[in-house]
Amino acid sequence: MFDKVLIANRGEIALRIHRACQEMGISTVAVHSTADENAMHVRLADESVCIGPPASKDSYLNIPSIIAAAEITGADAIHPGYGFLSENDKFAEIVAEHKLEFIGPTAEHIRLMGDKISAKDVVKKLGIPVVPGSEGAVKDISQAEKIAKKLGYPVIVKAASGGGGRGMQVVHNKAELGNAIMACKKEAGASFGDDTVYLEKYLTLPRHIEFQVIADKHGNVCHLGERDCSLQRRHQKVLEEAPSPALNTEERNKMGEVVRKAIQGLGYIGAGTIEFLYENGEFYFIEMNTRIQVEHPITEMITGIDLVREQIRVAAGLPLSFTQEEIKFSGHSIECRINAEDPFTFMPSPGKINDYHPPGGLGVRVDSGIYSGYSIPPYYDSMIAKLIVHGKTRNECLMRLRRALGEYVIGGIKTTIPLHQSLIRETDFINGSYDIHWLENYLKNLE
Ligand code: ADP
Repeated sequence: MFDKVLIANRGEIALRIHRACQEMGISTVAVHSTADENAMHVRLADESVCIGPPASKDSYLNIPSIIAAAEITGADAIHPGYGFLSENDKFAEIVAEHKLEFIGPTAEHIRLMGDKISAKDVVKKLGIPVVPGSEGAVKDISQAEKIAKKLGYPVIVKAASGGGGRGMQVVHNKAELGNAIMACKKEAGASFGDDTVYLEKYLTLPRHIEFQVIADKHGNVCHLGERDCSLQRRHQKVLEEAPSPALNTEERNKMGEVVRKAIQGLGYIGAGTIEFLYENGEFYFIEMNTRIQVEHPITEMITGIDLVREQIRVAAGLPLSFTQEEIKFSGHSIECRINAEDPFTFMPSPGKINDYHPPGGLGVRVDSGIYSGYSIPPYYDSMIAKLIVHGKTRNECLMRLRRALGEYVIGGIKTTIPLHQSLIRETDFINGSYDIHWLENYLKNLE
């Protein structure tokens, strides 16, 4: 096992990784920008190294600084968390070249899945159903028109290297197609340095359902069930729950097994998520994320498995500490992403927290690095906390979530807590009947 792990991230996930390491007797190195000197994960880590100024490109994305920090402190491994360098295949490669262990999949698998076109192609061959669409990249407008006609409108233009809900354009008819392709190429080129785009059938009423997998270096692969992440704003997740209110045990086991076999066939190592759209009882693959995800705690709550601990174990060459048969799903879990934003206009609200009281009690978990007196820097993602609740049933979980949101005090800044409080009182949410457009429609009706 490793003696020392460098955490190449910030915020709640850096703290989450630190906690897993501490419980495994592993010491931690925090790397941070000058804006994060007072961050909780920096204060709690055994060692910390300042790696640059506030801008992410100069600090959390600064590969030479991070590698130097690992070498100076004598770390054995690097955990990239999510975002930043977590899905950068070059980073994974450089880490390996420096005789450090990258806590994640191989650079090759990151590369394969990072390109959504090659990812679709590969998983299709491994027996996973995909969204109907273009075979590979769109070459020109006339070819795109032919494909769109065959698929039937609406269609969606997507960037092969897209992420974070960006690089997507919905097209309702032939007249819109040319402009949408140009706009998508432009955004993709500017944001991802790759303007390759492809076409997919646009599903009108799907849910977003994803399966968690984890694999070790000995050929063992397990799936840990699904998460329903249909509550989205601008293609970004706002609240997630596990299990999905839309699936029964038979569907879960069947799809879980399809996913497990495919991941085994791929020879994948580490934690990963296979994302699907789910409509009329059918699954359609959209992408695979080759890292730990923001919403991983709800899976931990219903399985009792510490996913970050397991990531570290498999990176160190140990076998998974459970078999598929040993995984038991118990109860229901919901996560609310709490952002430093106006709850209804979503304008960022960085600044100083002058009062802080997190909720507690049975089945309540808060993953967050904030504290009273902490100033939220304006440079990074606005998510400042995750409230995760578990209950024996979905109803108990909902009542507990309502109670916990009511207790949560974050003073001095605006947060999205009031949004969560109002949406969990909605009949559709209480009944579990919502799709990926539900939240946007709900917000529109509030205006
Ligand atoms: P990203 O990598 O940016 O997260 P994804 O491919 O995972 O992009 O898609 C994010 C979200 O965009 C999905 O959860 C869904 O809401 C929407 N989306 C993507 N592809 C389609 C599609 N073919 N039809 C309908 N909605 C889609």
